[in-house]
Amino acid sequence: MQDPDKLPSREIFDSRLSKILKAKKAKNLAYMTKIEYSKFIEEVKEAKALRAAKDKPCTVAQRSLAQRRLARFGVVEVNGEEKLIAAMKPGQNQMLFFAPVEELHQVLEEAHIAVGHGGKNRMLPHLKQQYKNVTEEAVLLYLSLCGICLNKKTAKKRGLTVKPMVFREMNDRWQVDLVDWQTSPDGEFKHLLSIMLCFGAPCILQSDNGKEFCNEIITSLKKTWPELKIVHGKLIFLVLNTKFIKLKKLKE
Ligand SMILES: [Zn+2]
Repeated sequence: MQDPDKLPSREIFDSRLSKILKAKKAKNLAYMTKIEYSKFIEEVKEAKALRAAKDKPCTVAQRSLAQRRLARFGVVEVNGEEKLIAAMKPGQNQMLFFAPVEELHQVLEEAHIAVGHGGKNRMLPHLKQQYKNVTEEAVLLYLSLCGICLNKKTAKKRGLTVKPMVFREMNDRWQVDLVDWQTSPDGEFKHLLSIMLCFGAPCILQSDNGKEFCNEIITSLKKTWPELKIVHGKLIFLVLNTKFIKLKKLKE
């Protein structure tokens, strides 16, 4: 399972990607292993040498392979390391690198962070400025494993106004929550009782504060209104016709 609140781990990403690649019938040149990547670099270098030494004897197959490699690839040195790039077209000044599958996780992670956890439509254009072979499929796989993005989506879906509670009668149910006002106390707690004396008591008093409501004040309310039921459960906010009462934190 992908860890929530975290970027996709390399282990999980690589194992999912390898499953996808195994299921492919035809060899897809967008995905090359590090070994294939190094082989292409050697072939490009040989092809360049062959092109430079025109008189050097070679077979038709060798020349044809050399042409194919040069039409597709180039090799550049970056910080002392040879990198495979896409053959440059006339007038093109931006080099596009190939990333071997073993480096895809890192490439995608850097891009995903660079675009601030952006989705496919932000990641792909960003990646295409630098890489030739990063596919939409790899981007979508990466995104499907980002715990931070997935968490954001569920938070958005949950919203604030799902499942509104609707009741036929006034005072069917009240929802209450505690606010800690200990820093600005104003004497004894009387508010819930005063509100009830004014509006009448609800049939059900709902709170998600559990034990905080199991105290003598509530017990005394129960004495005044024996029918009052207290239930504990998550509060639902922004509900019409339901009183939402903020109680002052009780002072012992
Ligand atoms: Zn993300």
